[in-house]
Amino acid sequence: MANGNLKLAIQKKGRLTDNTIELLKRCNIEIDSYDERLLVSARNFKLDLLFLRDDDIPEYVQDGVADIGIVGENVVREKKSDVNIKKRLGFSRCKLRIGIPETDELEDLGKLNGKTIATSYPNILNDFLTKNNIKSKIIEISGSVEIAPSLGIADYICDLVSTGNTLKLNKLKKSFTVFDSEAVLISSFKLELEKEKIDVLSNLIKRIDSALNAKNSKYLMMNIPKDSLETIVKIIPSLKSPTILPLADENLLAVHAVIPADKFWQIIDDLKAVGATGILLIPIENIIL
Ligand code: ATP
Ligand code: ZN
Repeated sequence: MANGNLKLAIQKKGRLTDNTIELLKRCNIEIDSYDERLLVSARNFKLDLLFLRDDDIPEYVQDGVADIGIVGENVVREKKSDVNIKKRLGFSRCKLRIGIPETDELEDLGKLNGKTIATSYPNILNDFLTKNNIKSKIIEISGSVEIAPSLGIADYICDLVSTGNTLKLNKLKKSFTVFDSEAVLISSFKLELEKEKIDVLSNLIKRIDSALNAKNSKYLMMNIPKDSLETIVKIIPSLKSPTILPLADENLLAVHAVIPADKFWQIIDDLKAVGATGILLIPIENIIL
């Protein structure tokens, strides 16, 4: 489809899909339902979505079949494709970890020497072992890696872990982290985009930045005793110039400010201690920087 649209490859169905579509929605990009279609144009942005298996995304972007892609960094590293990471997206976070039988102990990395490790990520594991000067035997398995130890094929495994429940079911437990992953936006390293597409991409990245900033921030509103303003400004580090409004009760002030969402729960008790009341924390849709 030579319509001049920027072509974005995303996972068709899997753990990245919902988060990716949600990010695009927060960028105010509207997509019709895609069902079984491979290619869908956005309704209000010069963007075409190409739905693929996640494993194919780095290569398609490297070769210019798609202009950009959203995929797990684990897949990008494993495929060793010639792509740039343009932006870390902060979702679909997971860890590639060594898993060992519940009854084993692995006090230090050196204990991996001479062991056999089953994994679907031989390249990442090999890079990790080489960097740490360890020689293990790597067995590549494409799925259900966690059954390898009970089948006697491998001593240990190296696989993506989030809760560790799959490991537990197979009488394994988590050990060392080999790689920390999150979804990333990639572009081809060797191919250059046409001017028109570069403009669309920079617009898209601006929208992504604003959506990510908004997600990490909340709008805080509260009432405080007039004489605690100075203390409250100290409690909230990002509160350089809060909006302060007078209230009918002359002893009180209303304070509004944008704060980092993750800090809020750490400071709420301090705020209450100096007399803050009517505390409201509101999600922010976009922050335009
Ligand atoms: P496909 O059919 O597209 O090949 P898949 O089965 O290989 O899919 P998924 O299980 O959907 O892949 O995982 C896709 C990506 O999501 C992984 O490569 C990783 O980046 C991320 N991911 C994997 N496990 C988790 C998890 N437990 N929590 C969050 N993100 C994860
Ligand atoms: Zn896959």
